[in-house]
Amino acid sequence: DKKIRIGIAGYGNLGRGVEYAVSRCEDMELSAVFTRRSPEELQVASGTQVYSFTEIESHVDNIDVMILCGGSKNDLPKQGPELAKFFNTIDSFDTHAKIPDYFEAVDASAKPNGKTAIISVGWDPGMFSINRLYGEAILPEGETYTFWGKGLSQGHSDALRRIEGVRNAVQYTIPVDEAVDRVRSGLQPQLTTREKHTRECFVVLEEGSNKDEVEQTIVTMPDYFADYDTTVHFIDEKQLKEDHSAMPHGGFVIRSGKTGDNNNQVMEFSLGLESNPEFTSSVLVAYARAAYRMNRAGDTGAKTVFDVAPGLLSIQSAKELRKHLL
Ligand code: NAP
Repeated sequence: DKKIRIGIAGYGNLGRGVEYAVSRCEDMELSAVFTRRSPEELQVASGTQVYSFTEIESHVDNIDVMILCGGSKNDLPKQGPELAKFFNTIDSFDTHAKIPDYFEAVDASAKPNGKTAIISVGWDPGMFSINRLYGEAILPEGETYTFWGKGLSQGHSDALRRIEGVRNAVQYTIPVDEAVDRVRSGLQPQLTTREKHTRECFVVLEEGSNKDEVEQTIVTMPDYFADYDTTVHFIDEKQLKEDHSAMPHGGFVIRSGKTGDNNNQVMEFSLGLESNPEFTSSVLVAYARAAYRMNRAGDTGAKTVFDVAPGLLSIQSAKELRKHLL
C-alpha cells in the first residue's frame, strides 16, 4: 500500500513532535518540512528535506496531508486559511473564543478547493473536547468539570517574562486535590476559580530588581493571577534550566450526572503528559490519517474533532477494529 505523505508547516516544538510521531506510524512517511526561516538554518532530526514556505504551493502533488505547526496567536490565523486552499490540513488552533471564526475562514478555503481541513486538534481543544461532548450527551443532567495540570502554561509564563525586572520565568497550573476529590465523589459542587487551581511561579530576576515589587506585580495581575492563590519562588538561571525545561501538562475532564431515581454516575478522562508538545503532535498525526481517508471519501471542508469518526484515526481497518478492539 502507498504510504500517506505528510508535510510539516513550521518547525518548533510541535513540528519536532510530528516528526517523531510520523516515524512511529507504518502507514506514513514524512515528505518535507517547510519554514519561514532560511531552510539551511534548520537542523531537522530525521534529515528530511527542508524548504522555504514561499515554495510550499509547488509541493501540492507530493503531500497528502500538511500538518500546520505554527502558533495559534500569530501564525495559524493566516496560515490555516491560506494552506487549506492547496492541501488537506490538520492544525492545533487553541484560542477557544476565536474557533468559530477560524472555522469559517478555513472552510471558505477548503470547501471550494475540495480539501479536508481538521482544525483545533490536540488535547484541549481536542481529546478533552470529545470527552466533554460524550459526558454531556450521555448524562444530560449533570455538571462538566475541566481541571488542567499539573502543567507548564506557556501563556502565563510569557506574562511573567513581560514584567519589568524579570529575566526569565515559568508558571505551573496545579489542580486543587480537594476540589478534584469532591467532583469525583459525585457531589457536583459549585467551584470558584480560586478553588479549582493554584498557580506556582519560578522567577529569575534581573540584576538589582526588587523581589517584593515583582511578587506584588505577579499576584495582583488581573486575569492571569489575581483570581488564584499564587506562589512565587525566586531562583537563578541555572536552576531554571536544570529543573524547569521540560514541558509537562495534562489534566482531567469529569462529567458528573444522575440517572434513574437518584444514582450518581461519574465519567472521567485524564492525561498525564511528560511532554505536552509531543503528545499534541501524536494527536495531530492520528487525525492526519483521518483527514486523508475523509478526503478520499469526498468529505471536504473544515472539520473539527466532533466530525471525525473514531475508527478513521486507527491504522486498523473497520473490520480489524470490530474483531480486536470492540
Ligand atoms: P513554537 O515552538 O513557538 O513554534 C511555533 C512556530 O514558531 C513554528 O512553527 C516555527 O515556524 C517558529 N519557530 C519555532 N522555533 C523557532 C525559533 N527558534 N526561532 C524562530 N522561529 C521559531 O510553538 P509550539 O510549542 O510548537 O506550539 C504551537 C501551537 O500549538 C501553540 O501556539 C498552541 O496554540 C498550540 N497547541 C495546542 C494544543 C492543543 O491541545 N490543541 C496543545 C499544545 C499546543 P517557522 O519554522 O516557520 O519559523
